[in-house]
Amino acid sequence: MRKIRNLAVVGIAATALLTLSACNSGSPDGTDGGGAPEADVEEEVTLEGSATYDAMVERGGPVIGVKEDQPNLGYLDATTNERSGFDIEIARWIAGSLGFEEGDIEYEPIASANREQALVNGDVDYYVGTYSITDQRKEQIDFAGPYFVTGQGFLVGADSEMTEVSGVEDFNGMTVCSATGSTPIQNIKENFPEIETEEYDLYSACVDDLLNGKVDAVTTDAAILIGYAAQYPDEVKVLDGLFTEERYGVGIPKGDAALQEHINTLFTDGGDTWQEIFDATLGQSGIEVEQPAVDPVE
Ligand code: GLU
Repeated sequence: MRKIRNLAVVGIAATALLTLSACNSGSPDGTDGGGAPEADVEEEVTLEGSATYDAMVERGGPVIGVKEDQPNLGYLDATTNERSGFDIEIARWIAGSLGFEEGDIEYEPIASANREQALVNGDVDYYVGTYSITDQRKEQIDFAGPYFVTGQGFLVGADSEMTEVSGVEDFNGMTVCSATGSTPIQNIKENFPEIETEEYDLYSACVDDLLNGKVDAVTTDAAILIGYAAQYPDEVKVLDGLFTEERYGVGIPKGDAALQEHINTLFTDGGDTWQEIFDATLGQSGIEVEQPAVDPVE
């Protein structure tokens, strides 16, 4: 399979991301990720000047905001109570680098619309969950990263005659579902007034509506849609065509430059860890994506 070297070229990303739905090698329920390496736990950690880190130490562990209904990214298996996915492993990697073990971590599910507020309120120390870096969000919080790049795609019923999307306006007159407060729903509402929208807190609720025929499509990042397509391979499919560039960052409280630098250094100097995490989780779906360069801090 072709390797993506320049994710700024969204068209190329589309090709590779869509190849994956055709050559899915992950588990049928799309929840692969159990093979991720266990995060190393640092013993001697000093992080001067990070109020967030000080709070974690005081508490005895981090509170991490996550998603739990996104297979291969942020997923909670209700039967085993195990969390898995690329974002979860990134969250664990960061926790370990700060000296915390799995048992010290408290996971807090936070929906897309509530992420900034959770960070502003101090309800979570950091957030790892398909969280696109945007200027609007940066008014309230800061981001470390990016650690992954994807783009907006569309999921439709497997029996749909559509195979690709040439432009978002292909959905004019149809009803498209996405999560409240997400960049894809914002894109549709601002730029495509002829598309009807349905929105929920969770993407899984949109997928339920698609399965029940209540909406024509679900739109969000292709990386997320691929997980649902793997979960319901006979019922839904990801269409060819990728729009926008979504760069995932770790959400942190605004102004905590020490924590931001710590996480960025982890991403930059982390050796093979990123690749090992990717291979054990998202990579199971067949995509090959390189780790993006971390943003210079302005
Ligand atoms: N990455 C997009 C966003 O941050 C969509 C996925 C999500 O809602 O988490 O809004």
